[in-house]
Amino acid sequence: MSTIKEKLPEEFKKEMKELLKDEYEDFINSYDQDRTNAIRINDLKVEKKFFEESNLFDIDYEKDGVEWADLGYYVSSDKSPGKNPLHDAGAYYIQEPSAMSVVGKTDIAEGEKILDMCAAPGGKSTYILSKLNETGILVSNEVNSTRIRALGENLERFGATNCTITNSDSKGLLTFFKGFFDKVFIDAPCSGQGMFRKYEHAIDDWSEEKVEECVSIQKELIRDGFDMLKEGGMLIYSTCTFTKRENEDIINDFINEYQNAELIEMDRIWPHKQRGEGHFSARIIKSSEEVREEEIQENSNKKSKKSKKKKKESSNSRKQDSQKLKDYESFLKDYIRDGSKRKNAISEKAVEVKGGFVYLVSKDMLDLTGLKVLRNGLLMGEIKKNRFEPSHSLAMALCIDDVKYAVNLDIEDEDVFRYIVGESISLEGKEVYKYSEPDTEDNNSRGWILVTINGVSIGWGKESNGIMKNKYPKGLRRVIRK
Ligand code: SAM
Repeated sequence: MSTIKEKLPEEFKKEMKELLKDEYEDFINSYDQDRTNAIRINDLKVEKKFFEESNLFDIDYEKDGVEWADLGYYVSSDKSPGKNPLHDAGAYYIQEPSAMSVVGKTDIAEGEKILDMCAAPGGKSTYILSKLNETGILVSNEVNSTRIRALGENLERFGATNCTITNSDSKGLLTFFKGFFDKVFIDAPCSGQGMFRKYEHAIDDWSEEKVEECVSIQKELIRDGFDMLKEGGMLIYSTCTFTKRENEDIINDFINEYQNAELIEMDRIWPHKQRGEGHFSARIIKSSEEVREEEIQENSNKKSKKSKKKKKESSNSRKQDSQKLKDYESFLKDYIRDGSKRKNAISEKAVEVKGGFVYLVSKDMLDLTGLKVLRNGLLMGEIKKNRFEPSHSLAMALCIDDVKYAVNLDIEDEDVFRYIVGESISLEGKEVYKYSEPDTEDNNSRGWILVTINGVSIGWGKESNGIMKNKYPKGLRRVIRK
């Protein structure tokens, strides 16, 4: 059986030899080493302390931190982090360590408006959400309508609240978001040379033609992304490939063409120098907005007409919605704790009702009518006949302190597996919390209960006569038993 090193394409080796010179031997020998794996803690749902105390995956917190990612830790692949139920609960995200550098090395301030243009499956988006800390706006876009499913699931599992998921190409986004964002991330489709050690099929998929094809897409994406930045905003371009043609050359050609593009830095992570599979990133500032005066005038007229129309329409629909929202409001009153972090966040957002579904949307979000939107903000739930059914997304964004009732399962408890395969669970003899304190009342029909594993929310259950019906979504249930 041939080794990865032996399978590497000749054209690739030749180009790397020219690029790396004396370092080439070290680079090529890195293919004899094991690939690197890492997780990133989701600090929106758990504290770092939780990981240190539980010592999940035998991480040495002194030694195993990913240098460029404050929440990233190397894990050995035999620990199978993807199989642990805390992964289903969104306590961490599994991400290739060098890919963490793109967001890890970017300063993100709370309140920023950010676009992640090529977002699936969500590695960069989830990290951006951590840095935004439930403020600002993230538009997480994916052009591929199959890959967008995984993006939706990963963002939901992460407990995303301030995120809009769109399914568009860059031109489609540009018609809505010209000059809107503080930051635009373009994790561009690339020829994937940095994946050779991770997936051998990436070697078979690679070709010179693929490089050329990617270069032409990358050139288009970077221009459109730049146009969506505000003046002073930053574009972050990245790939997981090594060739200069998809990295430095793209950036240099771009800054030569755009007078208002100021290159801040280009950064490489190499597998023979650092613990990672390799990544390229560049940061560019838009120093000024080169928009013609008449274009600004035209845009602002269009916007104000649109917003007047939107205001009129929204005041009409608000009247109809307020009737429909009665059951939603009773749910909030009955099950979400006043003064909790989530309840306060709810009051800062706009409520939108679409096709019977209730969403919480940032008040700064634009009218996206005409854009393919998978989810705009946090899906709170569905208005059904005479009742409101809270969504799984809401459960994932809640913690014990936010809700009236919660049941906390220990990771070793057999009921964890019962829950993630979709079985009902008897609550007899189980501690149920009421407003974070043990519930001492004689009540075995409490209704909606947040289910948590070691304190991390994983979904809803609904209790009636001491039995908690399982509300974990069918599509997410595991089919295997322990
Ligand atoms: N940022 C993702 C993450 O961290 O998990 C990985 C993104 S992957 C490197 C590149 C993505 O670009 C793919 O999901 C692919 O479907 C998308 N893509 C491909 N062609 C595109 C195009 N013409 N415009 C925008 N995105 C494209």
